[in-house]
Amino acid sequence: MSGVFDKVKLTVGAYIDFRVTETEVRRYTVSNFDKETQSMEFIVHLHGKGCGADYMNALQPGDVLSLNKPSTMIKYYDSSFQQYIIFGDESSLGLAQSFAPVLKQNKHIFQFIFELDEENLKIPEILGLESVIVYPKTGLFKNEDWIKQLPVFPLQNEAHIKFILTGNVKSAQTFRKVIKDTTKSKVYLHGYWLEGKKGL
Ligand SMILES: Cc1cc2nc3c(=O)[nH]c(=O)nc-3n(C[C@H](O)[C@H](O)[C@H](O)COP(=O)(O)OP(=O)(O)OC[C@H]3O[C@@H](n4cnc5c(N)ncnc54)[C@H](O)[C@@H]3O)c2cc1C
Repeated sequence: MSGVFDKVKLTVGAYIDFRVTETEVRRYTVSNFDKETQSMEFIVHLHGKGCGADYMNALQPGDVLSLNKPSTMIKYYDSSFQQYIIFGDESSLGLAQSFAPVLKQNKHIFQFIFELDEENLKIPEILGLESVIVYPKTGLFKNEDWIKQLPVFPLQNEAHIKFILTGNVKSAQTFRKVIKDTTKSKVYLHGYWLEGKKGL
């Protein structure tokens, strides 16, 4: 999406509320911003079950949109943490893209963990994301005992690690419970969508 974004201020995970119908808005993360070409990128899961996904799917090159300002209220990134473990699903790929250059530039240790539908398993690789573990979205992250076996555990230097948990609310909440029960790491949870619930 290109436009005049001279005055736009962006932070890691900044998102825009898109008006997708006359009465509904949906949130999407700015995954990348190129100052030179004045273009903003978003990665949208076209899951086919909601007005946000339908709106994004219907957009055509040349469409003109009037956008809300990006929201930079959420402070996902804190340079004082040495290590980041970032979890999510298709709806979190934009967040991962927005995080990746900052994590690399500031020399953090990081690990992305995704649960993805079968047809999307290769997307992190296609996007060029590094240090990624991908699991099929088959309910694994709703099982505490299974989460405890993830290769990131046991943690080293747990007080220096920040977990960012996004995507499916139930998966993120189950993951948080395991972290809270078994480690001293900092956790930031922001569920992006919930089964059967319209909007969030
Ligand atoms: C801060 C923030 C940033 C976000 N960034 C992104 C982003 O960059 N890219 C992105 O794709 N999404 C992102 N999301 C998630 C997106 O806003 C939600 O998925 C939203 O519900 C989509 O709206 P919808 O109208 O398509 O579906 P809704 O009308 O909200 O829901 C209709 C049905 O679809 C289901 N549903 C909703 N989302 C999904 C999904 N992702 N997968 C499967 N089923 C779903 C619901 O459970 C419901 O049954 C973000 C959310 C937040 C809060």
